[in-house]
Amino acid sequence: MVENIINGRNIIKILEETGSPSKEAVRDILSKAKLKAGLTPEEAGILVNLSEPELIRELLDTAGWVKNQIYGERLVFFAPLYVSDFCINDCDYCNFHSRNMAFKRKRLNLAEVEEQTKVLINMGHKRVLVEFGEDPLNNNIDYVTKVIDKIYSVKTDKGSIRRINVNIAATTVENYRKLKKAKIGTYQLFQETYHRNTYEKIHHGPKADYLRQISAYERAFEAGLDDLGLGVLFGLYDWRFETLALITHAWYLDKKYKIGPHTISVPRVREAATVNLKLPHKISDEDFLKLIAILRLAVPYTGMIISTRESPEIRSQAFKIGISQASAGSCTAVGGYGKKTDQSQFKVQDERCLEEVISDAVKNEFLPSFCTACYRLGRTGEEFMGFSKPGEIHNFCRPNGILTFAEYLEDFAKNETYEKGQEIIQAYLDKIEDKSLRQKTRLSLEEIKQGKRDLYF
Ligand code: SAM
Ligand code: SF4
Repeated sequence: MVENIINGRNIIKILEETGSPSKEAVRDILSKAKLKAGLTPEEAGILVNLSEPELIRELLDTAGWVKNQIYGERLVFFAPLYVSDFCINDCDYCNFHSRNMAFKRKRLNLAEVEEQTKVLINMGHKRVLVEFGEDPLNNNIDYVTKVIDKIYSVKTDKGSIRRINVNIAATTVENYRKLKKAKIGTYQLFQETYHRNTYEKIHHGPKADYLRQISAYERAFEAGLDDLGLGVLFGLYDWRFETLALITHAWYLDKKYKIGPHTISVPRVREAATVNLKLPHKISDEDFLKLIAILRLAVPYTGMIISTRESPEIRSQAFKIGISQASAGSCTAVGGYGKKTDQSQFKVQDERCLEEVISDAVKNEFLPSFCTACYRLGRTGEEFMGFSKPGEIHNFCRPNGILTFAEYLEDFAKNETYEKGQEIIQAYLDKIEDKSLRQKTRLSLEEIKQGKRDLYF
């Protein structure tokens, strides 16, 4: 069964066979990638093995071109919301691991969920990713869905959270049905590492079951969840293997369900207070950017997520070559927004507030977006893929990005960001090709200036 999804021996064989690719082979693959139809694991194998600076530059440039073609200028922002750090697993890399006895576990009650949600709304966020440790007693599915209901119910004069993505441990079809009923956006689950021996060595507790983890997406699909987020925790094993495994998994889902991953996340292991894991596969910044570029070419229609685990400098480079979504202003401790706590899951590197990240993005000519339209209009799963694969999602994203950014500017931005932001909006408004859509967007912008909110196509 696992072999149907990922066959580790096959991946190693690909890596051996593509060991020292010729310039011609690399350039052929890059030309093929420009057709925006993706790359097979074999083709991506040629790219993971390239080392010549000139070819690396061409790889990054091609990825930038493809990103621009499919996603354009927009960058979608969100924040994680850590709800409970109770956990029965003992993952060697995570500060929430069950061996951590010094840690005073915390689980938000619904009033605290409300308070944390308000802090996020008042920063300008519209999308959150809720995070829970695995604990059938303290974090059972009914608690998870109550938290989701609570977050959706919170309204302030600065708006509300309009999309909740969820990161909880692999679970049953029945539980996934409950998540579906709670109207979640994307269900994210990271495989952590696709290398089975490594996986089984560093996990302890129910999560140590490799099969349970890798088959979770099948159960999620069965339950009707069709926006799924894959990810690897880079640094646990050889990034070349992990990149090809991610691509293999994406192709597998696409072939079996006709729905590829909605997103791919690329977290790198970060230091954490009680974690002392030796990382023989620590990945350099250069290789990290390479793998982002390769994933962008191999699964061009998929959203790619970077978190505040990365520094502002690396994030800024990654935005140009493939990343389409980023967390900002994040705290990785339960109840940590607006409060001081030293109980974080790991240390972040980008500690800037949302406003600073936005201001930087705008200086680099990106269009920050808080759009949640697709999921609210039922454009998920196969329907979403129908737009995103041919690159047509762009048609909705640009106007919706403009409208949600205009709301942000009115409600949250300071002078300099406001001015530059308005210039960006004007520049991208002019680029909306469909005349009538451009006009409608212009009218909606007027309405937003007059106080109307939550307008989308
Ligand atoms: N507990 C659930 C699970 O493990 O699937 C979901 C949430 S967990 C809070 C989210 C992710 O954080 C994990 O999947 C893991 O990849 C990541 N993570 C854990 N420890 C980390 C560390 N030290 N550095 C970077 N990421 C880490
Ligand atoms: Fe628990 Fe998730 Fe941390 Fe593992 S990664 S210890 S499952 S919170």
